Amino acid sequence: NPLQNDIAGPAPRHRTTQVMVGNVAVGGGAPIVVQSMTNTDTADVQGTVDQIIRLANTGSELVRITVDREEAAAAVPHIRDGLRKRGVTVPLIGDFHYIGHKLLAEYPACAEALDKYRINPGNVGFKDKRDSQFADIVEIAIKNNKAVRIGANWGSLDQELLTKLMEENANSATPRDARAVTREAMVQSALLSAARAEEIGLPKNKMVLSAKVSSVQDLIAVYQDLASRSDYAIHLGLTEAGMGSKGIVASAAALGILLQQGIGDTIRISLTPEPGGDRTLEVQVAQELLQTMGFRTFVPLVAACPGCGRTTSTTFQELARSIQDFIRTEMPEWRSRYPGVENLHVAVMGCIVNGPGESKHANIGISLPGTGETPAAPVFVDGQKVKTLRGPTIATEFKAMVIDYIEK
Ligand code: SF4
Repeated sequence: NPLQNDIAGPAPRHRTTQVMVGNVAVGGGAPIVVQSMTNTDTADVQGTVDQIIRLANTGSELVRITVDREEAAAAVPHIRDGLRKRGVTVPLIGDFHYIGHKLLAEYPACAEALDKYRINPGNVGFKDKRDSQFADIVEIAIKNNKAVRIGANWGSLDQELLTKLMEENANSATPRDARAVTREAMVQSALLSAARAEEIGLPKNKMVLSAKVSSVQDLIAVYQDLASRSDYAIHLGLTEAGMGSKGIVASAAALGILLQQGIGDTIRISLTPEPGGDRTLEVQVAQELLQTMGFRTFVPLVAACPGCGRTTSTTFQELARSIQDFIRTEMPEWRSRYPGVENLHVAVMGCIVNGPGESKHANIGISLPGTGETPAAPVFVDGQKVKTLRGPTIATEFKAMVIDYIEK
């Protein structure tokens, strides 16, 4: 009964073999790593460098780029140089489908510039030569001392393997549900490919596995199974999660449950950006998921009540939003100037019902005046009421107090 536990928290982490991707440790007890993927044309060096830097500055600790054709493979070393010139060392992962073996063989500078290669076992090269093409990529990874992610995907599952398992299932005395067989094919696809890679000579500490599905319940089942059957480092992600709040909720539900069970060494939240929307949102959501669950701290948390009929004006929402935005914008600089600033808790509350109580739990908190209350906003620092703000400058004054608190 969890109510009888003195300490609330996740299950112990599933033990996995640690993999170094560039200078970032994945698995083996390392902090859960946030990663993301660009959506620029990789052949566009400048555009890709700019987006990688935006993602890295937001907190993406690994960045994946698609390497889909010769122009993209040729651009990869220039992207690496462009990042280096701007002082960015984030590890880069190349995403390969169909012709990865060819691109990596013909563009050795690309193979060298990347830190990890992602292979999809469902589409490694051409059907009857798949094994040799898979072997080619693995051998190039071994030669260049690079990590590999074997990433099975529900949408591009190895059809031969699926057909074989479906036939076996149809002839079985106790046939399983077709969806369960598909899940089994996902897990087997990842595990058999990993075993084959080890046979070729790629050590376990160079391999990360993933088996992405777009349905929350299937994803949970697939990853639980994958984790129970192996100790490879695990990349978690709900594929094709979707747009806006649907994508965020589905990803948080699926990944949250798995993380709580100790499963997952690196995560990507795959969101479809709104037209013209910012790609960095997926990094922000991944960080917030890990932080709200207590796995890591990235940026100060702003606790805010939802507001209700007791809030008198938009001042409350404006203050909460402006504090949140201010912190996000300043974080890249604060991180180096104020070590530990990410542990700060700020509370912005709408009235006296929960305001003073919540504010006292924060490092610094404010309770704005609600309907019918005296137009005064008490501010609490480290649990003590230190000041009461009044009038139209409440927002500016509180912001200044937050900065003052951080500086001290
Ligand atoms: Fe409403 Fe006050 Fe609760 Fe905020 S703290 S939701 S304003 S009752």
